[in-house]
Formats: sequence, C-alpha cells, structure tokens
Amino acid sequence: MIHKKTTRVANARITTYAKEDLSVCQVDVEVCILPGIPSFHIVGLPEKAVKESRERVKAAIINSGFTFPVKRVLVNLSPADLPKSGGYFDLPIALAILIASGNIKHYPHTQTAIWVGELSLLGRITGKNLLPFVITAHQSRQSIVIPSELTLPVSLNEVVRYRVSQLSDAVELFQKEPKPPCQFILSDINNSRDEVPDFSMVTDRDWEKWVCVIAAAGGHHLLMQGPPGVGKTLIAQCFTGILPTLEREKILEVAMIYSWHGSIRLSDRVPIRTPHHHITPGALLGGGVPFAPGEVSLSHHGVLFLDEITEYPRGLLDQLREALVHGEVHLSRVHKKIRVDARFQLLAAMNPCPCGYYGDNQRCICGHLDIKKHQKNISGPFLDRIDISMIFSKDNVLQQKNKKKIISELKDPSGKTIDIHSSVSMQSAVHHFRMLQKSRQNALNTDLPWELCQQHAYAARQADKAFELAERQLGLHGRSWQKTMRVARTISDVSQSEVIKVDHLQLAAELGSHRLTHR
Ligand SMILES: [Zn+2]
Repeated sequence: MIHKKTTRVANARITTYAKEDLSVCQVDVEVCILPGIPSFHIVGLPEKAVKESRERVKAAIINSGFTFPVKRVLVNLSPADLPKSGGYFDLPIALAILIASGNIKHYPHTQTAIWVGELSLLGRITGKNLLPFVITAHQSRQSIVIPSELTLPVSLNEVVRYRVSQLSDAVELFQKEPKPPCQFILSDINNSRDEVPDFSMVTDRDWEKWVCVIAAAGGHHLLMQGPPGVGKTLIAQCFTGILPTLEREKILEVAMIYSWHGSIRLSDRVPIRTPHHHITPGALLGGGVPFAPGEVSLSHHGVLFLDEITEYPRGLLDQLREALVHGEVHLSRVHKKIRVDARFQLLAAMNPCPCGYYGDNQRCICGHLDIKKHQKNISGPFLDRIDISMIFSKDNVLQQKNKKKIISELKDPSGKTIDIHSSVSMQSAVHHFRMLQKSRQNALNTDLPWELCQQHAYAARQADKAFELAERQLGLHGRSWQKTMRVARTISDVSQSEVIKVDHLQLAAELGSHRLTHR
C-alpha cells in the first residue's frame, strides 16, 4: 500500500513601504517555507542591498535566539514590477520568516501597522532616511513601527505605534494585544513668524505694497524692476509673511518634499527658496540618483525668489516655464518620465541696466548695447508668463494722485481701509480675497480657466459699453489677454467689485505690460 506523503507549506505576510522616486508605495512581504533542500531566495525585483538582506536576516534571527528554518525559504516582495532598494526590508522579512517558521505563534496585529527597519547581524534594528515613510503613514492614517534610534518631531510621534531597538523586542511586541488606534492629529507645528521680516519695515512704498497685495491675493507671478538699494529684496522677504499660512494637507505635502532631502520641515509658514544664479538644472528642477527634489519643488506652495534674474542663464529660466504655467515639472529619467510638484509663486528682481540707474541721466553710465546685453537672458516667452511687473520709479504729481486713489479703494469685507503698514493686516486681507476666489471658482485667479476669463469679460462688456472699446484699444492677444483678464479679476476683487471695470482692465494691462527698458 502506497501512502501519499503530505507536504505542509507555511506562509506569512507583513506590510511595509518602498520608495519609488518621490513617492512611497505599500509593499507586501510574503514568506513561504517549503520542504526541500535548504535555501533562501528573495524574489520581486530586489536590488543589491535587498539581496544582501538574506545574510543579515539569517544572522539576526539566529543571534536573537530563534531557529532559522532548515527548509526552502522563499520571500516575495509584491508588487513584483516595482524595483526595491535599501535595507529597510530586513525587519518585515525577518518577522514574516519567524511567523511562517512557527517561532511567533500568536500574532494578533500583523496587519495593523507598517514595519520598517534594517537589521544588524546581532539583531539590532537601525534605519535612516525613513522620514518619507513616517509622513506617508500620517497621510494615509496608518500606524508605523520604526527603529528606536530615529528622532522625529513631536507631532509625528503620534503616528508611530511602536519603537523597537532589537529583533527580540519586535517579536515580543508582535505577541502583545494591539494598542488602541493612533490619533493622527498634527500638533506642535512650527508657526513662528519671527524669521519673516514685517512689511512695517518697508516705508514710503505704499504703491509697491498695494501691488504685493494684488500679487499675493491672486497668486500672480511678480517681477520687480528698480535701481539697487530700493528695497526689492526686502519686499520679497516680507512677501511670504502676507501669504496665508499652510493648511494641514499642505504642511504634510511640503514636509514630504523636504523629507527626501533628509530634512524635517513641519511649519505652517510658506516656504521661500532663493537659489543662486550658478545653480545647475538638476538642482533647480530635481534629479540625481537617488532622485532628489529641486528648488522648484522645495518652494511648492510657497515662493521661488530669483534675485538679479538677468544673471541666470537664459536656458535655465526657460526650463521654468512649465512650472510657471502648470505648477508641475515632467522630467525624463532612464526608463520613464516622472512628474514633480512645483506650484510656487515666482518673485523676481532685476536692475534695469548694468549700473542700475537707468532713467537717471546723471548717474547711468550704460550704453544702448550694454542694456540689451544685460536683458538678453530673459526671453519673451518667459516674460510672457509673468503676470505683474512692478517698476520702482519716481512718479509725477498726477501719477501719485492716481495711485493714492487706487490704494484708498483697498478695503476689507467690512468696508474698512486695509492697513498696508503691517504684514498681519495685509495677510488677513489676502486670506479673505483668496477665500472669495476659492468659493467662486475653486481656484486662485492666476489659474482662472479660459472659459471663466471669457465669462468675466462678457459680464464686464454687458455692464459697461466702454469696456469693449478699452479692450480693443489695448490690443491684447491670446495669452496676454488671459493674463490681463486674470489680474483685472484680482484688482476688481480687492476693489469689492463683482464685475471687472474699465479701470481694472487698464490697470491690469499697465501692470502686465512689463516692457523692459529699450525693448
Ligand atoms: Zn545704467
């Protein structure tokens, strides 16, 4: 009589994370222990560090006092088409092997948390650059188990279900009853205003501050032109202080981008980045192996300030055009294209000529060719994507009077004139104007869709016959027309007007016509 030999297959599964360019994916670690000649294989596109994990896991299991199965051990990292690199798969692989081999008999919460960590040969759990995992766990409301040695900001500690320092600790934890669910509240974020200079430091520049309120309210890109020492850089630094603070989702989005650099940024202040003009395309847009975000991403939801913009290479500036319009950048990598977030507001500053005193005949020493050479790095298509140009100039009496009148129309919803001498009151006005745009069209005016631009123009023509005439006189086409209409919409918003008026259109056209001198 022939007895059929029964084979017993032991399985286990644990959840962990893997990095892919600038995103984090969930990965299942499956272990299967089969009868046969003893072996240990890892499948599922493991890269070198993951393949080497076999030696570390085996030594750590034995050195922690457990038995390593003398059978065929097969580890699968799923999904199989995602390349896996890094040592942080060690801990989930070891735990799954211990479950499948019967070393851990009681495991009430295998699936209640994400497990990450690298093992030393003696079973110590380590790990670095795990911040993207902790933030992803927070965003997706999952608990995570990390190495004890990893220091985190207090607010992110709440996501961490357990901290473990030895494989034996992890095994012990595994057999205990699960803790109640985590809180997932983002507390203790940095919300200090101290580092941002206040607009009260900028004196005698009411018109420029008014333009800043328009740019901040509508999210319009802004170019400042003026002689040296006039306060362009100070205004740019003050600018972030009047932008509304970041909401929870945006704080985490920004924190995630910074975490790829290994830095912790948990702040509700908008980021501002000021890259030097010698920056490489990779450092500006993102690149390298492993992929690191560039300055355009580090200023996501914030401000990218290019001081002395004429010093930046023309090709580099032109590469910003995609981000300026779409708020994202597509980059070609070896086998694929990746998309990175880059929704920043551009602030740029420049001197009108090499000496900086163009228009002042007594001081300017530049010739016509010098000025042309100075401005050659800014291409027309790049300039076309800047919505507002602010020129620091000496006004005649009539211009001063007009500007005073426009500034006096800047009122908050209760009808009170907005104090443009402090960042706090300017910020609260900007916040109000942004809420107004969000409730009307669920976007800022800078992203106003083409159809809505046309609808607003139609409404303006209906309300005022002179509007059509003004539109024709301005002779704007395509992108320029849309750009002007978007800025005009913001001007009418801050002037408490439901429709765009002729004055608003003319002012928007004036702010948008950033004719560089001599062009
Ligand atoms: Zn000059």
